[in-house]
Amino acid sequence: MRTIGLLGGMSWESTAVYYRRINETVRNSLGGLHSAEVILHSVNFEAIVALQKAGDWDQAGAVLAQIARNLEAAGADCVLICTNTMHKLADTVQDAISIPLLHITDVTGEAVKAAGCRRPLLLATRYTMEQDFYLSKLRGTHGLDPMVPNEEDRTAVHDIIFSELCCGVVRETSRQRYLDVIATAKAAGADSVILGCTEIGLLIGAKDFDLPAFDSTLIHADAAVAFALELHDAPRLNAA
Ligand code: GLU
Repeated sequence: MRTIGLLGGMSWESTAVYYRRINETVRNSLGGLHSAEVILHSVNFEAIVALQKAGDWDQAGAVLAQIARNLEAAGADCVLICTNTMHKLADTVQDAISIPLLHITDVTGEAVKAAGCRRPLLLATRYTMEQDFYLSKLRGTHGLDPMVPNEEDRTAVHDIIFSELCCGVVRETSRQRYLDVIATAKAAGADSVILGCTEIGLLIGAKDFDLPAFDSTLIHADAAVAFALELHDAPRLNAA
């Protein structure tokens, strides 16, 4: 079995979901007392959020790249950045290591496409919904036509992530707010929903609304297990 390197703690609330999902999936696949070989570096998220707010992405990239190098040196066979937002720095991290980075946008985009959906609503942080790094990959690499909420709804979605979900707070009013955003997008033509922030699955899931749901956390964790069990080889981000 290959060893999975997790670059986590952004926030730890969602890294805990990764850890459980990865181990449960290995147990379901192999049975008995099988569990995953995992190396986890969990950061102090407060320090990372300060860099995000300051727009100091270079420093954030340097921090994540060093951690990825450490994971490789410790024996990891792949690295997962356990947050969609910090995939803004995926190239920097991949360039720092010689093992593959399993890219969350790639595996999520593939899942959307494989399900025959084309116009997903992207729910995520402001960084992910408003900057180009995620949407351009969904469009360019995966041929999707993603939608994002309007300005007011993006603010609500973002604020609920940072002031509630990342702090372990799950409110019914916030669940309803998200469902209203999804209903608006459905009326405007969305055919599916990408939970494009690793904490959103703590608030809503497929059972809460009647569009196909793609939870980036679970899809990413499952891709790590497939790699660990050698069910597929991860494409190198920088290949070709
Ligand atoms: N976990 C979140 C994500 O998937 C947000 C936290 C962060 O800013 O990294 O984007």
